[in-house]
Amino acid sequence: MPELPEVETVRRGITPFVEGRRIRSVVVRESRMRWPVPALLNEQVQGRTIVGTSRRGKYLLLHLDSGDRLLIHLGMSGRLFVLDHGHPLVKHDHVDIELDDGKLLRFHDPRRFGAVLLWLHDEPAHPLLIGMGPEPFSDEFDGTYLHRLSRGRSAAVKTFVMDGRIVVGAGNIYAAESLFRAGIRPTRAAGDVSRPRYDVLAQKIRDVLNEAIVQGGTTLRDFAGADGASGYFQQDLYVYGRDTLPCRRCATPIKRLVIGQRSSFFCPKCQR
Ligand code: ZN
Repeated sequence: MPELPEVETVRRGITPFVEGRRIRSVVVRESRMRWPVPALLNEQVQGRTIVGTSRRGKYLLLHLDSGDRLLIHLGMSGRLFVLDHGHPLVKHDHVDIELDDGKLLRFHDPRRFGAVLLWLHDEPAHPLLIGMGPEPFSDEFDGTYLHRLSRGRSAAVKTFVMDGRIVVGAGNIYAAESLFRAGIRPTRAAGDVSRPRYDVLAQKIRDVLNEAIVQGGTTLRDFAGADGASGYFQQDLYVYGRDTLPCRRCATPIKRLVIGQRSSFFCPKCQR
């Protein structure tokens, strides 16, 4: 399932192909996604120029010169490909955004949990983006912020940082890895973690996400045509998926626990 780093990697990958390009048309072959593709999408964006891209959480945004924004979510299994017009279709190729230079942006999604939506310029906020926590790379997100929001919370710190209303992007793998690097045990109550430790944790969350984005960058060539390799972050993991294996720092066997219904991994010696 694509996480924030994968979505950011995709954004960086497609940007040179779509920025400044005019949309010739949008072809929707299957509108039944997580939310239906708007029936009038083609009429609403045809002839518009894509002036830039951005990302909010796991939503990819294509900004149009009309002020409207195309909102794309990859869901569980969505992929975006940059291809030439007329590229042969395969099953699950649901939406094509045809550009004026002979290329197209193709949305492929076997499980159809993804979305292609329009955020109109006169809508101050898109309903799906309301209530989202800050971006991990924003100035708003730091140890002081985490400390302030966590006071009085008895939920596990891992559950706390994985809550998208607190901060976006700390998915299960990234939460586990950043907690290891910060030396914080994932089961500790969020309200019991001190501010200095949250300073470290905020930085480690950024580090882990940034490393995944940088590593994803090496796969950019692939996704713009062939298979969008996923799981590229896995070789550098300290704890995630390593239960019973020796900790890479102290050789103590890594433990697995279920916290908030998610598999959680930690080193009982390195994480307190
Ligand atoms: Zn250890």
